Amino acid sequence: MKTIGLIGGMSWESTVPYYQIINETVREHLGGLHSAKIILYSVEFDEIEKYQSSNQWDKAAEVLGSAARGLELAGADFILICTNTMHKIYSEIQAAVSVPIYHIAELTADELTAKGIKKIGLLGTKYTMTEDFYKKVLIDRGIEVLIPEKDEDIRMINTVIFDELCQGIIREEAKQEYLRVIDELTARGARGIILGCTEIGLLVQQKDTDAPLFDTTYIHARAAAEKALSE
Ligand code: GLU
Repeated sequence: MKTIGLIGGMSWESTVPYYQIINETVREHLGGLHSAKIILYSVEFDEIEKYQSSNQWDKAAEVLGSAARGLELAGADFILICTNTMHKIYSEIQAAVSVPIYHIAELTADELTAKGIKKIGLLGTKYTMTEDFYKKVLIDRGIEVLIPEKDEDIRMINTVIFDELCQGIIREEAKQEYLRVIDELTARGARGIILGCTEIGLLVQQKDTDAPLFDTTYIHARAAAEKALSE
């Protein structure tokens, strides 16, 4: 079994499900006392968020690049960056190590392609929804990406992520607002919704909506476990 390196803590609320999903997948495959080999480098998210909001992505790349190097030195065979947003600096982090870093949007595109989905709604931080770095991965795979139409909805989705979900606050009103935006994206032709922020699955789950949900935390963590077992 290969050793999985996780760059987590962005936020730690969403790193917890990574640990659980990876181990549950190993149990599903091997049963008994089997569990995953995982090395976690959990960062101080307040520092990272300040680099994001002050547009110092190069500083964030230094911190995450050095975390990746630490994981490689400690024996990780491959690495996951446990946040969609920080894939903005994926290339810089990948350049810091020689082991592969499995891209969250590429793995999500694999799922969508397997299901024949060509038009998808995307929810995530304002960086993920409005900038190109994430959507481009999907578009390059032939998938059309819809984001909320109204600026106020983009702001609301982003604020709930940073001010609530990343701080462990789950509110029914926030869930209803997310479900309203999901309905609007579906009405515009989205064949499903990417939960493109690793905390959103803490708020909205498949039982809450008829729209097929693609939870990036689940997709990323499960794929990692399967790669650890198969390669
Ligand atoms: N975990 C979130 C994501 O998947 C947001 C936190 C961050 O900005 O890294 O994008």
